[in-house]
Amino acid sequence: MAEIRTVGVIGAGQMGSGIAHVCALAGYNVLLHDVAPAKIDESVGLIDRNMHRQVARGLIGEAEREAALGRIRPEPSLAEIGRSDLVIEAATEDEDTKKSIFRALSPHLVDKTLLASNTSSISITRLASATDRPERFIGLHFMNPVPLMKLVEIIRGIATGAETYEIAVAFARSLGKTTANAEDFPAFIVNRVLVPMINEAIYTLYEGVGTVDAIDTALKLGANHPMGPLELGDFIGLDTVLSIMNVLYEGLADSKYRPCPLLVKYVEAGWLGRKVGRGFYDYRGDRPVPTR
Ligand code: NAD
Repeated sequence: MAEIRTVGVIGAGQMGSGIAHVCALAGYNVLLHDVAPAKIDESVGLIDRNMHRQVARGLIGEAEREAALGRIRPEPSLAEIGRSDLVIEAATEDEDTKKSIFRALSPHLVDKTLLASNTSSISITRLASATDRPERFIGLHFMNPVPLMKLVEIIRGIATGAETYEIAVAFARSLGKTTANAEDFPAFIVNRVLVPMINEAIYTLYEGVGTVDAIDTALKLGANHPMGPLELGDFIGLDTVLSIMNVLYEGLADSKYRPCPLLVKYVEAGWLGRKVGRGFYDYRGDRPVPTR
């Protein structure tokens, strides 16, 4: 079985940063790429801060942190990423964006390279068709925040080979994660269940059934959820939540997946949640304040 030493990560946002973090701690060399070079620097800063937090909590040692950080190399060139043993794409949740990345990457790939997408919802079979190697393509769906969350959902496209699957499962386990297999249907398992719940919570707000505070308090205390659904939507990113609802709505052709107009409005306003400082809550002060 092919050995993985170097992992290329494309997209240095919330998820790409977390994936780079856990790969480096597990001993892999990481090449970190983003279309916006400033995002790569921001990401390395974020990983450094998060690793320091792990040191402070006694979860890792200082020498381990330093060594792991030293294994992450910012890589502005997509061509260089193509030389990795495994490339994990974690760019914006948009099919055209992801396909254009894979089309641009394909000519630079070496034979051995395996490709994975961290997509939350988009067909692995369709993404694989934009590459020169659908049999070496798989869905590796990490959860947010990656260093804390134990699951990696594994999604095989129609052409994904058995060896690719075995390497992907072994790789996820080497990061200390547990895997669950999902078939290649819109939003797979986790987001097929979770994201319509968040969308329904937004409808509850839209229809005036409850305030932001009442809805989140109700689900935290009434259903024993660690986070309220609106808080969770902000945490995921409302642009990502909307993209997933659109994939469900179009892919399953069922009106029960209709994105809430209020969700659309927040995204159109650029109120994407925690990552931009404002969503259903305003995060710019000392503590989050509901925006309605
Ligand atoms: P994000 O907005 O934090 O980051 C996306 C990054 O992709 C940005 O830095 C952006 O500059 C970069 N990007 C956009 N186009 C690019 C291109 N052409 N080439 C290279 N980089 C490009 O988003 P995120 O939350 O990190 O989500 C990334 C992926 O992970 C999405 O597919 C999302 O569905 C998936 N995901 C998200 C979560 C979550 O909770 N946020 C959980 C699991 C999976």
